Amino acid sequence: MQFERPNNIATNEQYRGRFAPSPSGLLHFGSLIAALASFLDAKSSINSVGQQGKWLVRIEDIDPPREKVGASQKILKTLEAFGLHWDEDVTFQSQQSELYLDLLSQLKKRHLLYACQCTRAIIKGQGGLYNGLCKDLNLDSKNNAIRLINQYGIYQFDDIFQGNVSCNKRLSEEDFIIHRKDGLFAYQLAVVADDIAQNINHVIRGCDLLEPTARQLTLFKVFSKKPPQYGHIPLAVTSSGFKLSKQNAASPIDNSLPQPALFQALKFLGLQPDKALVDEPVEVIIDWAVKHWLRDKIPKKSEILISSC
Ligand code: GLU
Repeated sequence: MQFERPNNIATNEQYRGRFAPSPSGLLHFGSLIAALASFLDAKSSINSVGQQGKWLVRIEDIDPPREKVGASQKILKTLEAFGLHWDEDVTFQSQQSELYLDLLSQLKKRHLLYACQCTRAIIKGQGGLYNGLCKDLNLDSKNNAIRLINQYGIYQFDDIFQGNVSCNKRLSEEDFIIHRKDGLFAYQLAVVADDIAQNINHVIRGCDLLEPTARQLTLFKVFSKKPPQYGHIPLAVTSSGFKLSKQNAASPIDNSLPQPALFQALKFLGLQPDKALVDEPVEVIIDWAVKHWLRDKIPKKSEILISSC
């Protein structure tokens, strides 16, 4: 199913964007690009009544086993060191359990959930895609994962930077997990719950999250909420094809001298700051970038070599 955007979007709606890091590691150059792009897109946006966009920060700490001690506070310090100051209080997903439980109970009342005992190995044995094996088994939800009956299977959407995106259709049609077997809330549920609760209308992030967008759009439809506009920026890769991510332990960025990394990140995003700016305080560089931010400069590709910036 293609996601159809309703045409009743108010032109005077104030832009509300967010950066939502998981504290499974410190910020690296790849996450700096995502933070910077979401900040610049928000701050360069002015609505018809003259309001500048808001930029929020949400710490996605719903997966304690993957969390690095102290990472949340260090991420916030890094954002400040780079002149990326947020509006409104920082929210933490670890404090939002009531919201997620409420949504789960709404879905349960609508008979849209079922428990599933399939392990990864079983699903792999079925060809890698979950085929609804447990749907009619009426299993106990205790010690089992909870899946959503996927009525919509949205797999295509319009992306601000990438144009029309088609995700894997069969994967997007799967009944996906929204509450994990280990008792933790699944990322898909938490991220959509918070984007709804915080009235987020723009999500700018890396292309590693293109596929999950289809599932998130499905959840917005299930909850009858207008989804944000999504924009996915290319991922930074090294010349050896190494994608910068926390999973492969990309090196953290240096807070003590932010200007060079900030400069390189701006170039990655298609901006051409004058060399003299590198000696200015970060606030001056950020101000310049807000004034010069152009969505059209973002390349329509999912990866970019860092050495080419
Ligand atoms: N927490 C996710 C991450 O750090 C990002 C979620 C999002 O931007 O939607 O990869």
